[in-house]
Amino acid sequence: MFDINTVRADFPILSRQVNGKPLVYLDNGASAQKPQVVIDAVICGYGEEYANVHRGLHFLSNLSTEKYEGTRAIVARFLNAPSEDDIIFNSGTTEGINMVAYAWAMPRMQARDEIVLSVMEHHANIVPWHFLRERQGIVIKWVDVDANGDLDPQAVIDAITPRTKLVAVTQVSNVLGTVVDVKTITTGAHAKGVPVLVDGSQGAVHMAVDVADIGCDFYVITGHKLYGPSGSGAIYVHPDRMSEMQPFMGGGDMIREVSKDAVTYNDPPMKFEAGTPGIVQTIGFGVALEYMMGLGMENIAAHETALRDYASQRLNGLNWINVQGHSATKAAIFSFTLDGAAHAHDISTVLDKKGVAVRAGSHCAMPLMEHLGLNATCRASFGLYNTTDEVDVLIDALELCHDLFA
Ligand code: PLP
Repeated sequence: MFDINTVRADFPILSRQVNGKPLVYLDNGASAQKPQVVIDAVICGYGEEYANVHRGLHFLSNLSTEKYEGTRAIVARFLNAPSEDDIIFNSGTTEGINMVAYAWAMPRMQARDEIVLSVMEHHANIVPWHFLRERQGIVIKWVDVDANGDLDPQAVIDAITPRTKLVAVTQVSNVLGTVVDVKTITTGAHAKGVPVLVDGSQGAVHMAVDVADIGCDFYVITGHKLYGPSGSGAIYVHPDRMSEMQPFMGGGDMIREVSKDAVTYNDPPMKFEAGTPGIVQTIGFGVALEYMMGLGMENIAAHETALRDYASQRLNGLNWINVQGHSATKAAIFSFTLDGAAHAHDISTVLDKKGVAVRAGSHCAMPLMEHLGLNATCRASFGLYNTTDEVDVLIDALELCHDLFA
C-alpha cells in the first residue's frame, strides 16, 4: 500500500520549515531526502555496530561485514541481477563510470576507437570518456535528441561503426526527464557486438529496473538519489565484462597476496573494491533500497506518474513558462526558464524564500544545454514523497517570479 501521508511521515526533514515556510523539496534529481529507517541505520551503524569489514575476527567486524555484504544481495534483488557477485560497491555513479573507463575501456581502446554517447549525458558519463580522448585518442560520437527531448534508439544503434567499443547512455535524463529505451539500444548494440553501459542514476529512482531484461553490460546507480546515504553506490557488471576488467585502484581487500615482487588479486567483485569502503553508507544504502522495494517500485512509479501529469498540466498551462523536454513518457523532472530577463539563479532564490527547493544551472549537462541553446534552467525534480499540493506551491511561487521579473 502506498499512502502518501504515511510515506511523508517516514521522512523527518519534510516537516521542517525553510525561510518560515513549509519545506517543498523539489531537488530530488540532485539528491533525495532520507527516511527514518536509513537515518536509524546510519546512527546504529556508527553508534553500536561499527568496525572495519572483512579483516577482523571479532564480533563487531563480523557484524559489520555481515550487514555490508548483505547489501550486495539487496542491490542484486533491486536490479534483478542474476548474482550478488555481479555487484561492485563504490561511492556513487561518478566512481562507477570512472571505474568502467579505467578498468574496462582504457585497456581495450586505442586511438580512433569510438564510444557512442547521447547529447543528454551527465558530465559523469562524459568526462571519463574525455580522459580517454585526451590520453588515448579515442573518438566520442554524439547522438542528438529530437525537439521533444526523445532519443531515438535506432539513431544510437546507427552511430555504431566497426570502431565502436562501447555505447554509454543514461536511462533517464537528469534535465529533461526523458526515459530512454535502453533495452532496444542494448539489443541493437549487441547485434553489432558492442557492449552497453547504462547510467541508472535517475532511472532506478523512478522505475523498477531489471538488468537481466535490459541485457546491458554495466548498470550504474548512486545511493544518495535512491534515498540512501551519500558516498554509496553500486555497479552491476555482466560476468563476461567483469572477467575482462583489470583492477583500477590498488590496496585493501582487492588483493589476495602481496610480496616484494608480485601481487595476486581477490576474486571479483572484491577485486574492484580497494581500501576501506563506505561501510555504514553502504549498509544504509541497502536499507534505503529495502525501503523502496517495501513501498513497491510500481506504486512509486504510479505515484510519480500522477505527479508528472499534474505538474506537466500546470507548468505547460502557463505560456510564460518554457518547459524543456516534452517526451510523452518522461519522468517527473522539469527543467524550465521563464520569459523575461530573470536568470535561473534569481528564480530559484525567490522560490527558496517561499520554501521551495529547486536546482538552477546547467545541471552537469553542458552539451545538452548547448544543444538547447541555453545557459541555465531551473529544475524541479520530484520524488516519491512529493504531492500535487506541492506542485501548486511551486506554481504560486513561479507566478510571484513572473510578477517580479516579467
Ligand atoms: N548521472 C546522472 C544522470 C545524474 O543525474 C548524476 C547526478 O546528478 C550523476 C550521473 C552523478 O552521480 P553522483 O554525483 O552521485 O556520482
